[in-house]
Parts: sequence; C-alpha cells; structure tokens
Amino acid sequence: MRKLSLSIVALLLIWSSTGAVSAHPGRTDAKGGHTCRTNCAKWGLKDGQYHYHNADGSATLTPPSGSNGKLKADKITPPRKGKLSVYYLNVGQGDATYIKTAEGDDILIDAGKNEAGDVVVDYLKQLGVDDLEVLISTHPDADHSGGLDTVLNAFKVKAVYAPKVSHTTDTFKDFLLAVKKQGLTIKEAKAGVSLPLEGVTAAFVGPTTAYGSNLNDWSAVLHLAYGDNTFLFTGDAEKKSESDMIAKKVRLKADVLKVGHHGSVSSTTDPFLKAVAPQYAIISVGQNSYGHPAASLLSRLKAAKATIYRTDLNGTVTAVSDGKKITFLKVK
Ligand SMILES: [Zn+2]
Ligand SMILES: [Zn+2]
Repeated sequence: MRKLSLSIVALLLIWSSTGAVSAHPGRTDAKGGHTCRTNCAKWGLKDGQYHYHNADGSATLTPPSGSNGKLKADKITPPRKGKLSVYYLNVGQGDATYIKTAEGDDILIDAGKNEAGDVVVDYLKQLGVDDLEVLISTHPDADHSGGLDTVLNAFKVKAVYAPKVSHTTDTFKDFLLAVKKQGLTIKEAKAGVSLPLEGVTAAFVGPTTAYGSNLNDWSAVLHLAYGDNTFLFTGDAEKKSESDMIAKKVRLKADVLKVGHHGSVSSTTDPFLKAVAPQYAIISVGQNSYGHPAASLLSRLKAAKATIYRTDLNGTVTAVSDGKKITFLKVK
C-alpha cells in the first residue's frame, strides 16, 4: 500500500471534484457489466466494448472483485526467436513485466500482488520459460513484490536485484525467504549498475540516492536498449526520484515508457515526460480506489503524442522489437 501524503490526497480531491468520475449511463447486466454505446472514447473504450465500472466510476475490462472476478492469465503469444519481446502482464492492480531477449535470456520485473503470483507463473509457463536469468524487485510494496515468492518457488532464478530498502510486511519477508531458499543473495539495484546480459544494454538509472521511508521513490528504474529501440521501466518512482534522475543526467530517452506508479498524479511530471519522450506509454493498472490512472495524466500523455496502452483495458500488452522497429501485438 502506498502512503497517501496530504498533497496527494488534495490532488485526488481536486481531480474528483472536476467531475471526471461519474459512470456513464447504461444498463448493468447479470454479469455486472455492460456494452459501451455512446462517448466510448471518453472512457478509454471502443464502441461496443463490454466493460465494468470501478467504484470511482472509471471503466475497466476486469470485473470488479466480488463479482466472480478472479484474476486469470490472458492468452498471450509466445516470444519470437531472434527478437526482443516485452510483456506488460495483466495482473490487475499491480506491476509485472516479462522480457525475453533475442539471445534467449529471461528477465522478470515484479510479480504483482500476493494473489497474482500463480497468475504470473501461469504466464511464464505459457511462454515456455524454464528459468529466469534476472529477477528484479523494484520496491517492497505488495502490489509489486507480493507474487515474487511464488515465482521464486516455481523457477530457478540466477540473479535477484532489488534496491537497498527493506520492509517489515509478511509478503516482503516471504520474498526475502524465497531468495534465501534458492541460495541467492540480493544484488543492489541502483543507478549505474548494469545487467550482465548479451545482445542488450540494460542498466539501472534509478534510484540515484536513498529515499528514507518513501518506498515508491526507492523504485529500481531500468533502461533497456536493443539496437535502436529503447524501453524504460520505472516501477512506482515518483516526482522526487524523477527530478533526481534528470539532474544526474542518466539515460532516460525511451521509445516505450512503463508509466510510473500505475498512472498516478504523483509520477510522470512534465520534465520527466520530456526527458523520456516516449512514443508509447504503457500503464499497468487494475481495479483500484486510488484514481489510477489519473485523467490529467492521460491527457498529458496524449498531448505528448504518446500512444497509450493499459493492462486494465487492453489486457497483457506485448511489444516486439527487431532492434529497428517496435510492433505491438494485437491488443483488445
Ligand atoms: Zn509502490
Ligand atoms: Zn505500485
């Protein structure tokens, strides 16, 4: 859980009072959802798309919990040989990203909430993963680290990276224990540390310093380059970490940005967006009460001409790169 600072609460209140959050009219059927008929684009939906509404009124393709909405792995396309594939896995509210390099190495960044662990294992099995060369825990929050123990207990992992910050929750202790059980010690994820992988240039560009009790700003931020194509994975890094990365002049420019903190107003400042200048912005988000993704962020991404994909509306988002061009596999 993220600590809500007063300023964030204030921003959420401002956002709520702009009236962007009341559900559009439409009859809810027995499954708890309905088909979009009018103004669908405004809701991030296509005409005729079946969807549900979160408590805050925002639209989602994932049924709200309680209405037989158990998290399940989407059907996804296996990686192509000789290409780089990046899967922004649909794990509901949370983050989990799987990368297969052209050389065949497997990287996993986070594994969603505790209950998403089995779903992430399902995804990895669907994709034919046998082991993981690199496992990254961006930060100890449960919506990122919760499923990691399940993954560690299911696959041989060669190296685990995490920022030097701990947490006392049971779910984080489970992760630390699972790392120990594999006989591994955690390597520190911080700006300047590179991943020893062939064929790609993958290096942490954050955190650039220590962030005390702000777990989100501790997020390990990974920049990955394959040929001409670049990707940035931000975890939940917020404003402070973003401005520190800009000040340290780390490599931020990326074709594809995994948007920080599920599209919260506390991340993706304009200077950061300018530094990354993404062509594509991926938001990993599910049903939530935080107002993720923020309407103001969506409009700023649009103004920056970034194509937006969301795991709650598009399901798992898959990017394939041949080193020159990035293609997104057909999304919902
Ligand atoms: Zn977080
Ligand atoms: Zn998070």
